[in-house]
Amino acid sequence: MPDYVIPCPTQPSLPIAGSSQRFPVRRIFCVGRNYAEHAREMGNNPDLEPPFFFTKPADALVISGQTIPYPPATTDLHHEAELVIAIGTGGSNIPAADALAHVWGYASGNDLTRRDLQADAKATRRPWDMAKAFDHSAVVGLLHPATAPLTGRITCTVDGTLRQDAQLTDMIWPVPGIIAYLSTLVTLMPGDLIFTGTPAGVGPLIPGQTCTVAIEGLSPATVTIS
Ligand code: MN
Repeated sequence: MPDYVIPCPTQPSLPIAGSSQRFPVRRIFCVGRNYAEHAREMGNNPDLEPPFFFTKPADALVISGQTIPYPPATTDLHHEAELVIAIGTGGSNIPAADALAHVWGYASGNDLTRRDLQADAKATRRPWDMAKAFDHSAVVGLLHPATAPLTGRITCTVDGTLRQDAQLTDMIWPVPGIIAYLSTLVTLMPGDLIFTGTPAGVGPLIPGQTCTVAIEGLSPATVTIS
């Protein structure tokens, strides 16, 4: 072990459904727009736009069931219900036909967003980092081992009220296409997570509310804002 001058950061990790083992998280990639209805609600044309990516730090992870503080510097915190892919085998230039063999599993996720800072970043053509990559911004449920494609319903409820309701098959870029395209931009590594974009119906969260993302076949990702 090197003699570090400060304590080493702890390794962020995800609990695994039905296991006491954990999945170490390396990087978190996120797809910008991947459902046509959400692209339209944000003022974009889904037919004209290829996928694009942004990132969150691995230590922005929040495991389902936790309470987090309302984040600073915003008055418009939004939920975004998303399927999360966990990469088990890395690679670059992965053909879409081989992509599912690189998947370790899937989880429900919530890409928490400071929407006002994102709108400001778009208007001033500045990076999205402070809108997307803030502390406690990546809520994830238990990880479920699976390599087959998922086809079920994805929902987001806030204090029991349905906010987002779509089918995973509504994705513009399905899981194999996301992995194939992202692997042309970076070499994917074991431990990487990919948030796959959110359907229509994003909206605000306020202190005291509990937000639950549920995906058929997976454990929910729940977070309470204090
Ligand atoms: Mn998102």
